[in-house]
Amino acid sequence: MKKSKFIFVTGGVTSSLGKGIISASLAKLLQSRGYSVTIQKFDPYINVDPGTMNPYEHGECYVTDDGAETDLDLGHYERFLNIPTSQSNNVTTGRIYQTVIDNEREGKYLGKTVQVIPHITDEIKRRMTRLGETGDYDIVITELGGTVGDIESLPYVEAVRQLRWDLGQDHTVVIHLTLIPYLRAAGELKTKPTQHSVKTLQELGVQPDILVCRTEHKLNTELRKKIALFCNVNQNAVIESMDVDTIYEVPLVMLREKLDRVALAKMKLPLKNEPKLEKWKDFLFRLDHPNTEVNIGLVGKYVELPDAYKSINEAFNHAGAVNECKVNVHCIQSETINAKNVHLKLQDLDGVLVAPGFGDRGIEGKIDAIKYLRENKIPFFGICLGMQCAVVEFGRNVLGLKSAHSTEMDAKTTHPVIDMMEEQKKITQKGGTMRLGAYACKINKGSLAHRIYGKLQIQERHRHRFEFNNAYTDQYEKGGMALTGVNPETELVEIVEIEDHPFFIGVQFHPELKSTVANPHPLFVRFVKATVEQTAKRDSRH
Ligand code: GLN
Repeated sequence: MKKSKFIFVTGGVTSSLGKGIISASLAKLLQSRGYSVTIQKFDPYINVDPGTMNPYEHGECYVTDDGAETDLDLGHYERFLNIPTSQSNNVTTGRIYQTVIDNEREGKYLGKTVQVIPHITDEIKRRMTRLGETGDYDIVITELGGTVGDIESLPYVEAVRQLRWDLGQDHTVVIHLTLIPYLRAAGELKTKPTQHSVKTLQELGVQPDILVCRTEHKLNTELRKKIALFCNVNQNAVIESMDVDTIYEVPLVMLREKLDRVALAKMKLPLKNEPKLEKWKDFLFRLDHPNTEVNIGLVGKYVELPDAYKSINEAFNHAGAVNECKVNVHCIQSETINAKNVHLKLQDLDGVLVAPGFGDRGIEGKIDAIKYLRENKIPFFGICLGMQCAVVEFGRNVLGLKSAHSTEMDAKTTHPVIDMMEEQKKITQKGGTMRLGAYACKINKGSLAHRIYGKLQIQERHRHRFEFNNAYTDQYEKGGMALTGVNPETELVEIVEIEDHPFFIGVQFHPELKSTVANPHPLFVRFVKATVEQTAKRDSRH
C-alpha cells in the first residue's frame, strides 16, 4: 500500500488570493510527473456543507458524483486533474463538530471533558489523513480555507502542527500563499504583510516551507532574499505568482517557478519524468488563439456575482477552446427581462443558456427569454431550472396550457407540468436532502442528445427537488417537445428537445459539473458549435 505524503496550503494577508488554483496547479504538475494526487478542502465555517448557502454568500455550490454539496474549489480540482472528488474531499467545521458531538452523545468519550484540543483537532487530523489511508494516492494536498490568524482557522492550523510531528517532517510540506502588495505612491513592492502573516503561523507552531507570493510585479532577487531571510525559508522556496490572464496558465507559471521541484525535494521524493503537459498546452494555445468569436447570454438571477456560475463559465472556456472560438458570456439578470424588451436584450446574441436556480425571483423573465429563443430559432441550452422553464414555456405557449407552471413557483397551479418528486414530498429538513449526485440517463436513439453524446446511456450529476410531471408526457411528445432522456429506473425526464430548431435542449442534470480541460463536456461543445453556426447565419442576414 502506498504511504501518502501530505501538502498543506494555507493563506495569509487576505482572502481570495487563489489558494484553490495554486493547489490545483501544483497537483496538476505532480500528476503530470507521474504521481497520483488528490486535493481536499477544509472550510472553517459552521454550516455542515455549503448546500444551504445562497450563491451570493459562497459562490456556486459544486456537486460530486457521490452527491456531496461542496465548495466550488472542488470544481477547480476536477477541472485541472480530471479525476472525480467525493464527499471526503470537502470538510467543514460544522461537520467536524457534528461528528464529535454525535460521538459524545454515544458515550465514546465517557468520563472525559470534550475539548477543542484534543477532540476537535483529533477529528480534523482523522479527516485530513483519511484519503491518504485509501492507498490510492502518493500525495494528498489539503487546502485550508480562510486566512491564517482568523479565530475559526486556529484548530486547523493546530492540527497541521500536530500532524507534522505525527507524520514526520519529510512527509509533510506547508505552503503559505501570501500577498506582496505594490504601493504605487512609493513605487515599491512591500513584504511586511507577508512577514506578519508568517509570524502568525510561527506563533502557532507552524513554519511554512514554501511561500507562494501573489504579486502584480516581478519579485527581484533582492526582494526574494529579503522575504527568505525574514520568513525563515530557502530563497528557492520563495515562489512568485504573478497575475495571469487565465487560471489555466497558473500550472505553467508554477512550473517555471519550480514549485513542484521544491515541494518534491522537501518530501524527499524523486522528480520522475519531466511534466507531461502537451495536452494542457494545446488547450491553452487554442484558448489564446481563437479563430472566431461568439456572444452567449447567461440568463440567471445571481449574475452580479461571477462565482455563482463558476462551472458554467469554465465549461464555456473548455468548449470554446475545442471550437477554436472565443466565447463572450454576457450575464443577463432575468428579473430585467419581460415580454416587451426581450428582443432588445437577446437579439444580438448567438445563443442563450438559461441557468439553474431556486425560487420564483426572475422566473417570468426566463420564460419570456425561452419563448423568444424558440420562436426566433436562436440556440437555447437550459440547465436544471432552465430546462424546467422550457417545459413551462412550451406548455403555456404551444400546448395552450395557460396556467402551466412548476409547483415550486405556484403550488396551486391547475397545470403542474413541473412537480415535486414524490420522494421529496415527505422531506422536511433542508440540508443535503435534494436528489443529489450521479444518476443514469437513457437516451433515445437518433435524438440530438444521442448525436451529441454518441451513446445511449450516460451518467450525469443532479441537484433538484422538482421534475417533469409524467402525467403530461403524451401531450408534450405529440405537441413537439421530445423527451429524449429518462432515468432508466424511475422514468424521470432528464432531457427535452425541440426538433426543427438549430439547437434547443434542456437538461435536468448539471453537465457543467463534469466538464474538464481533458474532457470538455459534449453538450457545451455542441452548443458553442451551434452558436458559431448562428453567427454565420446572422452575418449572411446582415
Ligand atoms: N429549483 C429547481 C428544483 O429544485 C431547480 C434546481 C436547480 O436548478 N438546480 O428542481
